[in-house]
Amino acid sequence: MTFTDVLDSTDLLAIRSKLTEITPDRVASAINKDQADFSDFLALLSPAAQDYLEPMARQAHAISLRRFGRVILMYAPIYLSNECSNACVYCGFKATRDIPRISLNMEEILAEADQLKRWGFGHALLVSGEAPKVLPVARLAEILQALQPDFPSLSLEVYPLSGPGYAQMAEAGADGLTLYQETYDRNVYAKMHPRGKKKDFNWRLDAVERAGQVGMRRLGIGSLLGLNDWRAEAIALALHADYLMKKYWRTQVSISFPRLRNIPENFSIPSLVSDVEMVQMMLALRIFLHDAGIVVSTREPAELRDQLIPLGVTQMSAGSRTEPGGYIHPERRGEQFAVVDERSPAEVARAIQKAGYEPVWKDWDRLMHEGYSHEDHSQWNAQGSGS
Ligand code: SF4
Repeated sequence: MTFTDVLDSTDLLAIRSKLTEITPDRVASAINKDQADFSDFLALLSPAAQDYLEPMARQAHAISLRRFGRVILMYAPIYLSNECSNACVYCGFKATRDIPRISLNMEEILAEADQLKRWGFGHALLVSGEAPKVLPVARLAEILQALQPDFPSLSLEVYPLSGPGYAQMAEAGADGLTLYQETYDRNVYAKMHPRGKKKDFNWRLDAVERAGQVGMRRLGIGSLLGLNDWRAEAIALALHADYLMKKYWRTQVSISFPRLRNIPENFSIPSLVSDVEMVQMMLALRIFLHDAGIVVSTREPAELRDQLIPLGVTQMSAGSRTEPGGYIHPERRGEQFAVVDERSPAEVARAIQKAGYEPVWKDWDRLMHEGYSHEDHSQWNAQGSGS
């Protein structure tokens, strides 16, 4: 059984429609439970919970402190290629757009990585469109091997691979996979992904499990907020994360909240998600899933990101460029999505410290498994103050 079976046997719309029946009393009783269950989560997601965001924020903060302390893991993407055979209607890289297509060579990738290293990052996310011809599995493995000595943690956000493909990635040094389903609604998914391999909903959804099966230590999931009703997406995300956390219990499961902001021509966002709605979704998920990581990217404005820190965020990107070669060619345009928080990594780190948290620039687990010492930790954090 996979999560696809779980999703197909769940009537999301029926669950969603019952949220309006939830009363304020039910919300109040869900907030302060030691461990909220799925029915409590639904109460926290309901329209009635909109009046309870402050107590929900207090509870989410307390849970996050207990589970994660005052630590935020910093990461940055490296865009390897903007070539893509898909045509996701909301994306700046879609195949039908006439933009310069760039795939970095190894020298350029290492130069991009070098910039991240100089800023202090030890955790990089390798990103590309669906371009197996320019970025086949063997090439991805080569890139991982080249970066591994300098990056204690390397995650992938590339097209879905087969199980053996993920095994090869893990062998080459990848320890994490980020793969957003974009939407868990099959009808909406079909409209948004009209062409290419990405049309295959199940292949994408099952990919996260294929990575879990080969022992990837981090799995990142998310819905692209704006494509569909946010409450329906939150219900599916909660089920998906809960399922993954139970089945791959050694793996850190994180939820991202990518929100559609800029869009290509001829596309309007079907279900805009407000700041308050996104915050409610985040709080409800934190109170339900105490151990899930929460990721907020530079798609969101600086002020909002700073306010979200104490509510349960565990990972933040900083200094991101979302076009291939954007760090070494800052003048380059043609990004996948607009970066809204344009602060430097050092500025983001200072904002995190100002909020009373510690920005952490590298992932500890791989080094701890390999027997690195506490001194290595201190040394890296000193380096990570950024420039
Ligand atoms: S979202 Fe990903 S798969 Fe879809 S067009 Fe953009 S780069 Fe390609």
